Amino acid sequence: MILYTLKDNQFVDLASLDSLEDAHVYVNLTNRCPCACTFCLRQTKVMSESHTLWLKEEPTVDEIMKEFQKYDLDDFSEVVFCGFGEPLERVDEVIQIAGLLKLYRRDLPIRINTNGLANLIHQRDVTPQFKGRIDIVSISLNAPDEKEYYELTRSRFGIESFQAMLDFAKKCKAYVPHVILSVVDIIGEDKIKRCQKICDDLNVTLRVRPFEE
Ligand code: SF4
Repeated sequence: MILYTLKDNQFVDLASLDSLEDAHVYVNLTNRCPCACTFCLRQTKVMSESHTLWLKEEPTVDEIMKEFQKYDLDDFSEVVFCGFGEPLERVDEVIQIAGLLKLYRRDLPIRINTNGLANLIHQRDVTPQFKGRIDIVSISLNAPDEKEYYELTRSRFGIESFQAMLDFAKKCKAYVPHVILSVVDIIGEDKIKRCQKICDDLNVTLRVRPFEE
């Protein structure tokens, strides 16, 4: 599946929906990721062949735009780059697609859900590319300190990943209207408070998501 939405906590192919009104449309463009998170759905979720987010091949920009052309963008409430992998592994393609979607519908909100490690992946600052194309960047904070973050994400960039992710969030603020750091509620109140302090210091929003098995 390249374009999908979430329904009753399941990944659903857009093509199988009766109505797309107010749909949050997710773009699944890569399965690559520099992390191996202990909680990653890629390791835990069993999916049927027709609803799988495992890609046989990464779709090209043309293939993704052809998928979008099957629908009326006015029906969508949001487009989210997300999926079974880190979307910013393909930052140039994300930017190209977001730019094309904005040409067709300027007010379509576009979000990236990311681990925030794109600047380590690409060894350059990618955040200026977001300007005028991306409305929301939602970054997985996961934990209140570098040690716990590393234990959870097992990032191939090692212990420095936590600080790099925070630096990325700070840089995004110059180019993106809404920058969010997210955690899941099961980390507990104390850690959520420490995460809130990190967000306050960065002047970004903390989103506490309910944990779903
Ligand atoms: S960053 Fe996301 S895609 Fe990558 S391993 Fe962690 S949960 Fe999975």
